[in-house]
Amino acid sequence: MSVTGNLFILSAPSGAGKSSLIKALLEKSHDDNTRAMQVSVSHTTRDPRPGEQNGEHYHFVSVDEFKSQISQGAFYEYAEVFGNYYGTSEAAIDAQLAQGIDVFLDIDWQGAQQVRIKKPEVTTIFISPPSKQELENRLRGRGQDSDEVIASRMAEAQAECSHFNEFDYIIINDDFSQALADLKTIVYNQRLTCNQQIEKHEQLLSELIK
Ligand code: GDP
Ligand code: ADP
Ligand code: 5GP
Repeated sequence: MSVTGNLFILSAPSGAGKSSLIKALLEKSHDDNTRAMQVSVSHTTRDPRPGEQNGEHYHFVSVDEFKSQISQGAFYEYAEVFGNYYGTSEAAIDAQLAQGIDVFLDIDWQGAQQVRIKKPEVTTIFISPPSKQELENRLRGRGQDSDEVIASRMAEAQAECSHFNEFDYIIINDDFSQALADLKTIVYNQRLTCNQQIEKHEQLLSELIK
């Protein structure tokens, strides 16, 4: 009955709604779920936004600390995004998966490429905004980035979007509750694959063919 957790990647241009969708998925998961889900907390060299807590939203570290962790091989993947380093700790993810927890990575397309090579069974999801204009509205509406940061994120959005065809699934985050329902469908679908059901119901299935 100890089934390994599934690993999911959500990528999108900044402001498309990845963090909001993951947060809503994890909040609702207590009601109707049999399997734990957790978001991976990345390391980053960017400054915390107002309200962001160290260890909860990110592990905020200096460039020197980040580089020293790179040289120790501590990262599953890392990338430079918007002039800052971001990386996923390998030990943390492996421990969560081994406990049967489904783990969600909110990482950019470069990170997604690296994880796919190391773990081909990963499920990758691209979150698309309904339009460029709405993406800009959301970045502004979030009210946490300066005009300069918003302009650079809009400029990067095209580069991020140009990788959409490398993903297993695409969700258009127009109506939030529909996008959340789509995300749940993908997550639950993974738990019903033949391999996973054999792992989970090994005894039942072997008795049926005795
Ligand atoms: P957001 O896009 O508004 O959520 O802004 P963030 O500053 O939280 O994230 C900046 C970028 O870094 C996004 O493209 C994320 O997907 C990416 N990112 C966050 N964590 C990681 C990570 O651990 N690894 C990689 N490769 N990218 C990450
Ligand atoms: P990301 O993590 O991809 O950068 P966020 O989850 O921070 O994006 O969302 C950016 C902003 O857009 C937030 O203010 C969020 O509340 C808002 N938002 C997310 N999804 C929707 C949606 N479907 N409709 C309207 N606003 C949304
Ligand atoms: P923000 O600075 O707005 O929190 O994140 C900016 C971008 O960095 C987002 O697109 C986010 O997905 C990406 N990001 C955050 N953490 C990581 C990480 O650990 N690795 C990679 N590759 N990208 C990350």
